[in-house]
Amino acid sequence: MKPFVLNMLALAIVTATLGLGQFTTDEYKSGIAWPEPAAIQSGTAATAPSDAIVLFDGTNLDAWKNGDAWKIGDGFAEVNGKAIQTKQAFGDCQLHLEFATPTKVKGKGQGRGNSGVYLMGKYEVQILDSFENPTYFDGQCGALYKQQPPMVNASRGPGEWQSFDIVFTAPRFDEQGELSQPAFATVLHNGVLIHNHYELPGGTFWDRAPRYKAHPEKLPITLQNHGNPTRFRNIWIRENIHPLVGKPAEANH
Ligand code: MG
Repeated sequence: MKPFVLNMLALAIVTATLGLGQFTTDEYKSGIAWPEPAAIQSGTAATAPSDAIVLFDGTNLDAWKNGDAWKIGDGFAEVNGKAIQTKQAFGDCQLHLEFATPTKVKGKGQGRGNSGVYLMGKYEVQILDSFENPTYFDGQCGALYKQQPPMVNASRGPGEWQSFDIVFTAPRFDEQGELSQPAFATVLHNGVLIHNHYELPGGTFWDRAPRYKAHPEKLPITLQNHGNPTRFRNIWIRENIHPLVGKPAEANH
């Protein structure tokens, strides 16, 4: 027989064997009775999912301490003079926010479009105009500040709307105040993965190495004032980031 025919014959035998397998193997079932995953309405590019806490919908910063200080424009808020903090405290979370660095390019390096989102007021994901604006890599847009550069630079240009989607696991401390589990962050910048379950070695400081100091399970989120008129819109957060827990299914079910 010619090689081609032999190959086709071999393929036919393999296919038949695999097909036969479907009839001779029992379907695997985990044996776990899972709670039903809640049905929610997912969001669109401009709206939050139905189970999110909306922190800014484009109209007011009522959910934020010092929110009055910032300028509210047509569907956006602009950094102005002070940092703002959520009135509510958060720990583990999924956070979505959109930002735009100033259209009018001013300054360079860390002085261009600098702001930042501080999970728990302590762990900064850097916001910066990093479009053709070199700076130290662990301080560019999307960096876990002074800890870890983003995997890629997914930045858009000045004035263009960009997004961060952050999944954050808060650190845990034992009763003695010792770290029992570090914080983790997964970050997408404009839909692109830039940190994958990154383990933070501590808080993100400008003037010293990262380290942990015991703190509560939940703390406010801060948006930084760095003197640049960076804009924000569409900020929402979900606290339901823990896997469902099932139990062994009862017999005969
Ligand atoms: Mg910053």
